[in-house]
Amino acid sequence: MVTDIRKNIAAVREKIAAAAASAGRDPSEVRLMGVTKYHPVEMMAEAAPYLDLIGENKVQEAAEKRGLWPCGAASCPWHLIGHLQRNKVRRALESFDLVESIDAPQTAAAMERLLREKGARRFPVFIEVNMSREAAKHGVAPEEAERLLDNIMKEAPSLSVEGLMTVAADSDDERLLRETFAGLRELRERLRRASGLPLPELSMGMSGDFVTAVEEGSTIVRVGSAIFGPRIYN
Ligand SMILES: *Cc1c(COP(=O)(O)O)cnc(C)c1O
Repeated sequence: MVTDIRKNIAAVREKIAAAAASAGRDPSEVRLMGVTKYHPVEMMAEAAPYLDLIGENKVQEAAEKRGLWPCGAASCPWHLIGHLQRNKVRRALESFDLVESIDAPQTAAAMERLLREKGARRFPVFIEVNMSREAAKHGVAPEEAERLLDNIMKEAPSLSVEGLMTVAADSDDERLLRETFAGLRELRERLRRASGLPLPELSMGMSGDFVTAVEEGSTIVRVGSAIFGPRIYN
């Protein structure tokens, strides 16, 4: 099992390196997140030394796992990549190092209140954008992203917006995927100009589409099944 995971990670890293090279990018600009939802903490800990980041979807699951985490806080930062409900914000701030899924001013406001209460240092977040405009997906519509960013900068100064995240359509239509990822990159350029923030991070690309995402500028690929195998939902 351990050797499988290590082999899978090595194979993913090779593909990232090839995709980066083909786009004239330095592969070290791309961080590899292991998406570990539904996988046990033992498996995660085996993989952690070979990953740059851990990604979890649910606050409750992550809080339980983080309580058991044997690897130390510094080894591998944890990102929340699933939807954040307002009543889970306190838990999320305790369990994660960064939240990638901000898509509403109310969520940012709830985080702001708690961070002020704690007198905590600024907390890093990404804005999630629903580039494919699917009704079932979370994320702000692309044309609403600038307004949300502006709102966060004014109303939630304890948050530090460091980039954008998107989940592409579940499709193998290469052209469509490329359009989605290039669209997020172009949106980032617009938001940079409008806000003056550097917005260094583009979290895009999963097991089925990370090569295209890296070619289009991804700085974080979120890879689950290509590393850990299929998830057993129960
Ligand atoms: C589950 C999930 C992933 C990883 O999906 P795979 O297809 O298993 O790589 C990435 N991002 C988000 C937001 C997810 O929910």
